[in-house]
Amino acid sequence: MIEFSRPFIGGGFRRAHSGDTFTTINPSTGEAIADVEKCDGTDVDAAVEAARSACSRWRFMKAEQRASVLRGIAQALRNHNDELAMLDTLDAGIPYVETKQHDVARSAALFEYSASVIDKLYGNTVPIDPKYMSLTFREPFGVVAAITPWNAPLANAVISVAPALACGNTVVLKPASESPLSALMLAKVCADAGLPEGVLNVIPGPGSDVGMKLASHPGVDKLCFTGSVETGQQILQCAAENMKECNMELGGKTPVVVFEDADIEAAAKAVSFSAFRRQGQICTAAARLFLHEKIADRFIDLLLAHVRELRVGDPTDMNTQIGPMISLRQRASVLEYIAKGRKEGATLLIGGGPPETPALARGAYMTPTIFTDVDHSSSLAQDEIFGPVLCIFRFSSEDEVLRTANDVRYGLGASVWTKGIERAHFFVRGFEAGLVWVNCINLSHPAIPAGGFKMSGLGLENGMEAMLRTYSRSKTAWFNLGDRAEV
Ligand code: NDP
Repeated sequence: MIEFSRPFIGGGFRRAHSGDTFTTINPSTGEAIADVEKCDGTDVDAAVEAARSACSRWRFMKAEQRASVLRGIAQALRNHNDELAMLDTLDAGIPYVETKQHDVARSAALFEYSASVIDKLYGNTVPIDPKYMSLTFREPFGVVAAITPWNAPLANAVISVAPALACGNTVVLKPASESPLSALMLAKVCADAGLPEGVLNVIPGPGSDVGMKLASHPGVDKLCFTGSVETGQQILQCAAENMKECNMELGGKTPVVVFEDADIEAAAKAVSFSAFRRQGQICTAAARLFLHEKIADRFIDLLLAHVRELRVGDPTDMNTQIGPMISLRQRASVLEYIAKGRKEGATLLIGGGPPETPALARGAYMTPTIFTDVDHSSSLAQDEIFGPVLCIFRFSSEDEVLRTANDVRYGLGASVWTKGIERAHFFVRGFEAGLVWVNCINLSHPAIPAGGFKMSGLGLENGMEAMLRTYSRSKTAWFNLGDRAEV
């Protein structure tokens, strides 16, 4: 089934310069899926060169034509829905029911949304003097590099690729080494749908080599990164060498605050899915649950009932809701957090280790894990564990819970559940987070901007804001309309 295992540079699959390969593993079985050719600095140079050569043809194409290519890609993604979905399921362990019904469809929608705004990237005219016309307009940066993670391989690539292309940039994409396959197929699907050669290049290879080289490469004009804070910081340091602008979509530790007047049943169900969907490997997954003391016991009973019903298993089975984690390495890191939390006195309510089902023994599986009696200054409460671990806290006052909810280095998502409009507004304004949900959680859409505060990132993805702030820049021009130039 794996057809694409070579870098895609300048419109076709090429041999990687190193001649080396790396193996991608199916985290559900531990078996090898494919040997992918490993890029090095020479391939980075070739990909950047191909992207630069394609810049002027792509950016000066008529808006209508560029939009038509992107719409064609959206349709092509839909035509290849099941193959792309299965690649992410095998490579990253994401349940097929999700990749098939959500991830590819979301990627197609991102291309369609991006196509729809190409002719709406307006500038302004500024009426200061009748002898002059001064105006601003939007321009692409040039070559955009995207470095992406493994938790939603296709959708996380497209969230940068689609708007970057719409704004007239060309792209070099480095997918995560854990899950490079769907990005390689994306390149082929785009080319077959009419994307000119060199406009999208995909170079799999280690972040410490390929990623770092992209970050400091003088031929890259803008860098978009999704991943951990620590890697984001390294990239920013490299990018500083040539003043490269960076968009950073980093980690989170989402608080969910539930008041006594909330729809408790709906909240419990939503939290059970948000915390454990994709094994908690989502940057906005519910990670800290704050329950008003009046409803805490009842809420916990409801939550546990929902969690016990979650079906953990083979991700290719359409009945599975939760597959394996990305790797045994990532699971080992989560198990370390759990052991430390127990040692520090947190009470384990459910889960805490791999499932006992023999059929799952070879995969990177984990059971949904919930702790109470957690010290909010401990690593269980403070770190982005990126696994199926939820910590519960009780509270009695609004001020106290808002202060604690904000007391982490992250500021990506936050959710509050209440029927009181004043209280909801107080939390919307008070949360130190770029994305706030009231009586809901984890909603997202190509047209709605999203970005993090504090250590959760810089800049925005999605919506017109991303088009205007992340993928295009403003240029100002003065036209002298009179006979003589004035200074
Ligand atoms: P990383 O941040 O290390 O990796 C994300 C991407 O960056 C990958 O493509 C990776 O390549 C690349 N990369 C790694 N090191 C460098 C570097 N020095 N310069 C440039 N690019 C680099 O995440 P991990 O996969 O190691 O996961 C570790 C933790 O990161 C998780 O436990 C989680 O907390 C967090 N994370 C957060 C995500 C989010 O959406 N917020 C997504 C994924 C992880 P390669 O795969 O080759 O190493």
